[in-house]
Amino acid sequence: MAIATTNPATGEVIKEFDPMPAEQIDAALARSVSAFRALRATTFAQRAAWLCRAAELLEADQNDLAALVTLEMGKILPAARAEVLKCAAACRFYAEHAEGFLADEQADAGAVGAARAYARYQPLGPVLAIMPWNFPLWQAMRFAAPALMAGNTGLLKHASNVPQTALYLGELFTRAGFPAGAFQTLLIGSEAVADVLSDPRVRAATLTGSEAAGRAVAARAGQALKKTVLELGGSDPFVVLPSADVDRAAQVATTARCQNNGQSCIAAKRFIVHTDVYDAFVDRFVAHMSGLRVGDPAAAGTDVGPLATRQGRSDVDALVRDAVGRGATLRCGGEPPAGPGWFYPPTVLTDVTAEMRMFAEEVFGPVAAVYRVDSYREAVALANATPFGLGANAWTSDPAEQERLITDLEAGAVFVNGMVTSYPQLPFGGIKDSGYGRELSAAGIREFCNLKTVWVG
Ligand code: NAP
Repeated sequence: MAIATTNPATGEVIKEFDPMPAEQIDAALARSVSAFRALRATTFAQRAAWLCRAAELLEADQNDLAALVTLEMGKILPAARAEVLKCAAACRFYAEHAEGFLADEQADAGAVGAARAYARYQPLGPVLAIMPWNFPLWQAMRFAAPALMAGNTGLLKHASNVPQTALYLGELFTRAGFPAGAFQTLLIGSEAVADVLSDPRVRAATLTGSEAAGRAVAARAGQALKKTVLELGGSDPFVVLPSADVDRAAQVATTARCQNNGQSCIAAKRFIVHTDVYDAFVDRFVAHMSGLRVGDPAAAGTDVGPLATRQGRSDVDALVRDAVGRGATLRCGGEPPAGPGWFYPPTVLTDVTAEMRMFAEEVFGPVAAVYRVDSYREAVALANATPFGLGANAWTSDPAEQERLITDLEAGAVFVNGMVTSYPQLPFGGIKDSGYGRELSAAGIREFCNLKTVWVG
């Protein structure tokens, strides 16, 4: 994929970039190592002050930055602004909590024959972050803020369609006061990742993106014996049981499916509804979905903008056509509009069966598959019948059923009577083909640390 800003609302190429040549990559890696040495000599308080300054810069830049994100990947402007502010909040969260999360863990010294025994978290060094375009600020920030507070340095290989957002992030932390080279953007294509990953100066890697990219990066990192965190795709279930508040569930289902123009890893994608409330849910859901306004993501009043890439739209279209061709019922949407831009309407399908591709594949657009089930057991079996295991949404007002769902759903997160979202305070990550490792919370900052055992006699 060419490294370029292309407006998904019009298809117009705005600005193209040459990939960094090998000498520049090498110089960036050398700077990352020097910055790591400099950062190791700083205190938590110093790094926290710089990170709070980064939060202030994000807030000051919010209008231009949100407009840039909307231009590059098509999310609606209020969502882009909310993303900027969420990044600022994450910076402040880690500025405040990193020292506590990484405090020495005291052990029972007497039991191991020591005068003192404890475990200490120490940074690893330069970490390569390979990131996707769908939350181009947030995905990068939820790596960057904890990494920098831990004392690691970051090298960002961002998705090729968000180069200007990537360049902004590559300057942000130096503007905020961090040593030059503490967080840098490498403008490179995915074919250049393997060499960077194999370079001995790079100590670990994190990737957020598709399962295919995750497998490629994990294989290379495995050869080089480097730790990875993988945040991959998802096909989250949204289970609605008889005691659920159906009005509320249908409303939240609409947001959960169409947030970010339907392109979120934790969007609800498979709606599994008990037969007792099926008709009531589907009627309301279809009404909400078909009522959303699709259009210019920069215009006030738009609910759903274009998909980010031409390929993304044709992938979604192919999955819908496959399902309809094999007998699924189209309840709304299903036809990409004529004209420029990569728009796709909110779409609801019922009567989806296991022979259809979307039963097992992730649909990265505003398309919902609704399934009817007759029992709790059937609901959970269907919810778990996916290669993915990122998030799960469950709707029931029965406390015993809530407990069972928390235990039974195979996912990295279960949200009961609400939609799956990421918060700095809570761990985030998946199981099965959705990847491994965790971001955010205390777990996230510890991923790229050496937990050093200390024994003093
Ligand atoms: P993608 O094609 O995998 O791209 C993600 C990043 O990986 C980009 O920087 C891309 O670079 C790079 N990349 C692609 N193939 C690579 C390879 N073989 N080796 C090294 N790097 C490679 O993903 P996408 O389609 O842009 O993003 C959507 C996917 O990300 C969905 O599956 C979504 O569910 C997932 N996602 C997961 C999470 C999570 O937290 N679990 C969050 C957001 C998105 P180029 O752009 O240069 O190709």
